[in-house]
Amino acid sequence: MAAITTSLFDLFKVGPGPSSSHTIGPMKAARDFRLRLAELDPEVLVVADRLEIHLYGSLSATGKGHGTDRAVVAGLLGWLPETCEPEVFSMLLQEENLAYPIVIGEKALNVSAESIHFERGHHYFPFSNTLILKLMHGTQTLFEQEYYSVGGGFIQRKGEEAAIHQDPPFPYDSMQTLKAQMQNHGLSLKELILRNEEALSGLSRPEIEERIDHILQAMHKAVQRGLKATGTLPGFIQLKRKAREVHKNAKALQKSPDSFLIFLNAYCLAASEENAAGSVVVTAPTSGASGVIPGLTYLLRNQYSKKRLREGMLAAAAIGFLVKHNASISGAEMGCMGEIGTASAMGAALLCACAGHSIEVIEVAAEIAIEHHLGMTCDPIGGYVQIPCIERNAMGAVKAYNAYLLASSGNHADQKISLDKVINVMRATGRDMSKKYKETSEAGLALSATEC
Ligand code: SF4
Repeated sequence: MAAITTSLFDLFKVGPGPSSSHTIGPMKAARDFRLRLAELDPEVLVVADRLEIHLYGSLSATGKGHGTDRAVVAGLLGWLPETCEPEVFSMLLQEENLAYPIVIGEKALNVSAESIHFERGHHYFPFSNTLILKLMHGTQTLFEQEYYSVGGGFIQRKGEEAAIHQDPPFPYDSMQTLKAQMQNHGLSLKELILRNEEALSGLSRPEIEERIDHILQAMHKAVQRGLKATGTLPGFIQLKRKAREVHKNAKALQKSPDSFLIFLNAYCLAASEENAAGSVVVTAPTSGASGVIPGLTYLLRNQYSKKRLREGMLAAAAIGFLVKHNASISGAEMGCMGEIGTASAMGAALLCACAGHSIEVIEVAAEIAIEHHLGMTCDPIGGYVQIPCIERNAMGAVKAYNAYLLASSGNHADQKISLDKVINVMRATGRDMSKKYKETSEAGLALSATEC
């Protein structure tokens, strides 16, 4: 199998919620399409009379609730996930019949809600989350591109060769080969991931560290905003935010031995509620699961130095890379075990690394966290990343904490299941899971929508 070549900054991406595969991915795809339109022969553009966007699979089933339509318009307007203003983004397509001029050179083509087609029924594209963008003249397609949103805001374009990365100096494709590289070269996990990152991103060590600090800041800002916010979240569920109240109760119960868990719950809810509101969050590894790592690092912010937290983030990234490479971090491919399960395993690794534990303990903690998320379905009510998603982030963080305790207080040599094995089981389980439970809102909790 090919070596892992994902950069830290592709895994941890700053952008608007609520779902990286439904917002960040489609926004990037639409922006890519816009850039390709600009390269077309002007004679093709001049005869074009409209743009069409066709959404398939989970993008069609839950795209409305996940803001895919707004994300596509934003991308066509040339906006980037990391710099777009969440308040302005959330206003897109709010007014019926409002059209947005997409200006390419001399040509302006209007895009409105009518340009977006939510295609129902089964499809045969290689990935569930597929979108096709077309430049049209009457019934004639002048130019089209097919994109796949493969989870965590990553996209692939049909027929495109994988991006060429500089080879990482210490290639690995599994926990087994990662540990072998560490042992053969006498490297710590932190050192190996950093040296590979220097090659993959072309950034210097101080630049990488600065960017990790920036990611932690963006995560903590989301927690802080969420702890202050009140009211209900967007959508028909009318779900009341509760992070602020839980936080208030945590402070009142400060002397209770449970209080650190209540604080952790509040922090995870806060970041997840910000995601559900379409505010700026950090994919970790996805937007739907963007409450677990911020909740944990916010809890640890006064316990560990910046340097230790960075080490924790590098360990978390290593686990995210392994799952992304060998299974998937997409709810549409794996169900929620691919999102919250992966985030929980990353969180367990982060806790172990911050506490200075060995790679063996980190592996056991990540394995335990994934093992106890296997088979978890993705069935968000109404397609909104709210129920079960928000509380599920808090649960994922608490499970991460317990996985860390179980791994660090036991003997890692007694562990029967390796991380590589459990990731293989996740891949097989995701493949066998009915598509009804993979972000389509066709079963499970989603069917209780009428009772909300
Ligand atoms: S149920 Fe899990 S995988 Fe599905 S949208 Fe919610 S957080 Fe994401």
